[in-house]
Amino acid sequence: MKFLVMPGDGIGPEIVPVAVAALEALDRKLGLGISLEEVPIGFASLETAGNTFPDEALARARDSDGVIMGPTDTLAYPPLSEGGRGPSAFMRTGCDLYANIRPAKTRTGVPSAVDNMDLVFARENTEGFYADRSMHMGNGEMMVTEDVAIAVRKITREACTKIAHAAFKLAMQRRKKVTIVTKRNVLKMTDGLFHDTVRAIGAEYPEVEVDDVIIDAMSALMVRTPDAFDVVCTSNMYGDILSDLGNELAGGLGLGGTINAGDQHVMAQAVHGSAPDIAGQDIANPTAMVLSLAMMLDWIAAREQDNKLKEAGHRLSAALDAQLADQATCTRDLGGPLGCKAFGDALVKRLEEDA
Ligand code: NAD
Repeated sequence: MKFLVMPGDGIGPEIVPVAVAALEALDRKLGLGISLEEVPIGFASLETAGNTFPDEALARARDSDGVIMGPTDTLAYPPLSEGGRGPSAFMRTGCDLYANIRPAKTRTGVPSAVDNMDLVFARENTEGFYADRSMHMGNGEMMVTEDVAIAVRKITREACTKIAHAAFKLAMQRRKKVTIVTKRNVLKMTDGLFHDTVRAIGAEYPEVEVDDVIIDAMSALMVRTPDAFDVVCTSNMYGDILSDLGNELAGGLGLGGTINAGDQHVMAQAVHGSAPDIAGQDIANPTAMVLSLAMMLDWIAAREQDNKLKEAGHRLSAALDAQLADQATCTRDLGGPLGCKAFGDALVKRLEEDA
């Protein structure tokens, strides 16, 4: 089994090695037969290849069983004409990673702004209000005059159908409830299409309860009644924003694990960005990156019916739970004493000692 590692920018080269070390420890323990290759992206490849996401990276990702991508500093990238390519956009559209699965969960021992949150966002990942992934040719944002800018948003029945199935399948493994989040009171055609399509697919999953909430109310309800939600099915930008809110309420952005999944490919990638404000200081929390890896192992295990990988994903999640339950083995953002590297060393030790 071949995994491709893309360290990324900012805190990426600090948190990605923690995930890689955990994977290597699991491989030694369980004999998973994993080979790891690395390809530079972001500012590292801008220097060497002239752009922030070389064609080679996509080709090698397509040829891999899984990708571990660190966060990228897209805000600081030069324009496309000078090599600034958004790695997430290239991967998500180039490998048809249409489902962005993002849990937000409160945990024993982790201080949080709300109690009893255990929900998962099923976020559409390939279209919506993202200028770099809505058009066949050209860009979804344009300047009409120096003082007038326009953005277009693409919503297709096909993409809504795919994310709906992902959401309902997830709900069937959980508490059997899907909440559709839109702004369909205002965006009646685009969000209307999203809502109606997801509802129609819901009829194929009669055991799953379906409700729908407007995004502004959802932001309030996630604070007021977080336990009311199980799977939240939403479009690209709403899911991006709400999943940061969910993870921050549940303890912090450093906890937000996520996978980008399609029918053929999968990529582990933390919810958060490259955190340039704390980069290079060994204070980032690598939990989100490691949790994303655990989710990816689970996803591949289910697809391949691979019990060893399933065991690896389970062990990794359990080791993280144990580590986060004890403040003495947490990073500073959670009130603990450890730096990023020491957190990784403690996690590897835990995995090695796991009977
Ligand atoms: P951010 O998510 O990087 O950081 C927001 C805040 O959360 C910062 O205070 C940061 O220090 C903190 N934080 C984030 N991750 C943390 C971690 N693991 N441990 C502890 N604290 C953590 O958001 P931003 O500052 O708005 O964006 C920085 C860059 O990242 C921008 O270029 C943005 O475009 C990019 N970005 C990339 C991704 C991605 O690669 N998937 C996602 C979001 C943003």
